[in-house]
Amino acid sequence: MKIYIDGIWKDSSNQAVLNKYNPSTGEVIDTFPAATKSDVDAAMDSSEEAFKSWSEMGSPDRAKILYRAADLIARSRGDLENLLTLEVGKIKREAADEVDGVLDQIQYYAEFERKLTGDIVEGTTPDRKIFQYKVPYGIVVAITPWNFPAAMVVRKLAPALLTGNTVILKPSSDTPLTAEWLVKKFIEAGIPKGVLNFITGKGSEIGDYIVNHKKVALVTMTGSTSTGQRIMQNASSNMAKLILELGGKAPFMVWKDADIMKALKSLVWAKYLNVGQSCIAAERLYIHEDIYDNFMSKFIKVTKKLSVGNPETSDVGPLINKGALSDMEKTVQEAKNSGYKILTGGAPPVLQGKFGSGYFFEPTIIDNVDQKSNLFQNEIFGPIIGTQKVSTMDELYEKANDSRFGLASYLFTESPELMLEASEKVRFGELYINMPGPEASQGYHTGFRMTGQAGEGSKYGIGEYLKLKNVYVDYSRKPLFINTINNSVFDNL
Ligand code: NAP
Repeated sequence: MKIYIDGIWKDSSNQAVLNKYNPSTGEVIDTFPAATKSDVDAAMDSSEEAFKSWSEMGSPDRAKILYRAADLIARSRGDLENLLTLEVGKIKREAADEVDGVLDQIQYYAEFERKLTGDIVEGTTPDRKIFQYKVPYGIVVAITPWNFPAAMVVRKLAPALLTGNTVILKPSSDTPLTAEWLVKKFIEAGIPKGVLNFITGKGSEIGDYIVNHKKVALVTMTGSTSTGQRIMQNASSNMAKLILELGGKAPFMVWKDADIMKALKSLVWAKYLNVGQSCIAAERLYIHEDIYDNFMSKFIKVTKKLSVGNPETSDVGPLINKGALSDMEKTVQEAKNSGYKILTGGAPPVLQGKFGSGYFFEPTIIDNVDQKSNLFQNEIFGPIIGTQKVSTMDELYEKANDSRFGLASYLFTESPELMLEASEKVRFGELYINMPGPEASQGYHTGFRMTGQAGEGSKYGIGEYLKLKNVYVDYSRKPLFINTINNSVFDNL
């Protein structure tokens, strides 16, 4: 694997490499370059130079390249799906679904080609106007996570490029291969030299240097809240604009009048999609006491039926790495120490052959978890969920909102009054009522509280990549009179 700087695929300047593991087997499948500071400097210089012509190209011409990239990806989508299964351990259906999302997002953003607008605002006198132009920021640093390694990359590349920014992409060290595959498609589609640079390497080693770099105008990052906070501090040295899509702790609320099967299917999706490693994963289950036993017995039954193992053939694949697996083990141990009952799961499954050394964990349900516990306050990011009974809607709102995270939330009820009331009272960036996610390209994916800043998707998301610039014009033919100065000093000149 190589990095891509100024139109050339290369090794890092000191030839250093890191290992990429297959999470299903624990085997090394490739190495990738650990980029150095001088690689970062070269990428910045290249992006700066390319910005001059790319930002002056019309957006319909930029869109043509994006459409071509989507076409190239679609033509070899099977390869991308296989890569997602190899690199992340995605089960087949989910890999295909992510690729659908990739194509949808590129298409969606490219369609803004003739929809980018500014404003003309009336000045303070009739012959004055303020032209509000929307202009690209300059160099965008895009830092992506591993959980949706293709979708997260294009959700940043497509809007940033369409709006005339140049991009330096740094993907997660758990998923460099998917990012490289996508970059190749964008290059093949005609992205000019320097418009898209691609570097890999550990965020903990090279991340601070990238974000602190004086040439960076905007940092768009999806990842954990702690990394987001660090990026925010570093970006302050340069006043870089930030788009931060961070952690979640979604409450999944089932009221007594809910359509049980709709809620159950949505929960199985929201909890076990990508082995629970999703920012919109259901992490806290609140069920009305009248239906608790009925709903829980069904949920446990279905959970037990899910097969765990080889992602080519199973319902649930592996966690991303050894660290994630040991986090699950610690979470269950902590639950046991707190005296909670494990209703199902709670350990890695016993698997034969090469999958025996993969990072698998059984889907796990933990009963009657305390609201203030670690399990209900911090992101689990795996196939574990805690439950709680509730009896009133006020209790439900209070508990759901009691989280430092504020991305997704789910509510199941047949009552129109409760749907409307919850729309106001549930303080999350996304509330899914009677449906599973995920977010749509035309929705604005954003979070309250520690989930971050700004957002992605929709006209608001594309707007994040454009800076508003104001040009004041006076086209009056009358002499200029300024009321705060003594105008007589200009007489007889
Ligand atoms: P992470 O560990 O925070 O890493 C995210 C990215 O930041 C990676 O590319 C990482 O590189 C890089 N990074 C690490 N330290 C850095 C530094 N000092 N400066 C700059 N970059 C740095 O998160 P993750 O484990 O990949 O992803 C899981 C998290 O993402 C979860 O919290 C999840 O909720 C969140 N997420 C949020 C959304 C959303 O839309 N809100 C969507 C998906 C995921 P390395 O890999 O090299 O360390």
